[in-house]
Amino acid sequence: MKIGWRLGSEVPGVRLPLPDNGEMGTASISPRELLRESDPDLFAALAGEERRQAEGIELIPSENYTYPEVLAALGSVFTNKYAEGYPGRRYYGGQEFTDAIERLARSRAKALFRCEHANVQPLSGAPMNAAVYLAMLKPGDTVMGMDLSHGGHLTHGAPVSHMGRLFQWIRYKTDPGRRGRIDFDVLRRSARRHRPRMIVCGYSSYPRDYDYGPFKSIADEVGAMTMADVSHIGGLIAGGALSNPVDAGFDFVTTTTHKTLRGPRGGMILCKKRFRKAVDQSVFPGLQGGPHMNQVAATAIALGRALQPDFKEYCRQVLVNARALARALSAGGADLVTGGTSNHMMVVDCVSSFGINGRQAEETLDRIAITCNKQVIPDDPNPPLRPSGIRLGTPAATTRGMGEEEMEVLGECILDGLRDSGDPATLARGRRRVRELCAAHPAPGIPE
Ligand SMILES: *Cc1c(COP(=O)(O)O)cnc(C)c1O
Repeated sequence: MKIGWRLGSEVPGVRLPLPDNGEMGTASISPRELLRESDPDLFAALAGEERRQAEGIELIPSENYTYPEVLAALGSVFTNKYAEGYPGRRYYGGQEFTDAIERLARSRAKALFRCEHANVQPLSGAPMNAAVYLAMLKPGDTVMGMDLSHGGHLTHGAPVSHMGRLFQWIRYKTDPGRRGRIDFDVLRRSARRHRPRMIVCGYSSYPRDYDYGPFKSIADEVGAMTMADVSHIGGLIAGGALSNPVDAGFDFVTTTTHKTLRGPRGGMILCKKRFRKAVDQSVFPGLQGGPHMNQVAATAIALGRALQPDFKEYCRQVLVNARALARALSAGGADLVTGGTSNHMMVVDCVSSFGINGRQAEETLDRIAITCNKQVIPDDPNPPLRPSGIRLGTPAATTRGMGEEEMEVLGECILDGLRDSGDPATLARGRRRVRELCAAHPAPGIPE
């Protein structure tokens, strides 16, 4: 390694054992430069990913650019620390600062969502949902969840998931006769027939907001618990742009922290006080070991940012941008599931709109540096790896400061590309326009 070592140097750097004799010294080099020197292959991939994120437009609705402070916390010494247990009740010593950050994260979460208890330790969204199910249900219990192709998530009882096998899932669907909304009379009849222990609502590919009231009243009628998995829209709820299931009296609300909340990859469980013990024990020691305290620190930072007034403005703009993009696409003949959007995302039926499947559409947009994902549409006749649709969302582009005008340009690029996916000149033009938009709106947290 060609690192510039300076024993006892005043120059800020990283303290490391010296390569020749193992004594501690200070290398006058940033951690990033150190990585470039010590692991060039890894560094090349990192630099490539940075360029990809900076020079393309991210329209995958579950992704975002996090804050530079969150990246700093994730790469901090909190990653060194074991903190099994909860603040004030840990199984290891040295918890003065880990307790402080976990308490901060919990109190910020409670303030944002107006809930009685928050567990901020779930390592991600899937274990967060598993922790709630395993806390409250017994194997074989009946649970209702939204069907995957109608917008639900894998963790809502998809047959390929462990949770799908452990419980008896009744999957409800949206109603094409109601422009893709849920028919609550059908849901009520089904709940009366199956008597679920829990009704789960929440979505990953449903482009409308939910009315939580009817879910709650149906659950009350049949004596079921209620859980809303707001993983996609946690930030939009925190920012007051979408309705909050806590206000509707839901027992459990779960959300990832890395989607519209713009934090680190992770999950949170929000619940009523009377479920606190069951939820905390289910997360640890039931399902997980030591929490990732660097992630908990980063979650506290993101929640702190979500409490600032400008986060409300961000959330409002995410929805304004989604409507603008949906309008531009519809006006150009794209067929949108449910006819449009009332949240941050839209699902485009590419087969009916452009005569290509979702995989072809995803690949075409990749070629103009727009990233999206292929998506099944309700009761899709095509298989998941060649589904009929794509899913587009505006959280990440909005974080870059893009507005309605940019959405119109993006809409044109997408329409041109998908209509004319075989024409290299069209794709080259689209790519140029996307590059210009990116240059004018740098992505936060990415080195030049
Ligand atoms: C993203 C998502 C999850 C899972 O989150 P991971 O962090 O990927 O495990 C769970 N539920 C819903 C509704 C989601 O959108």
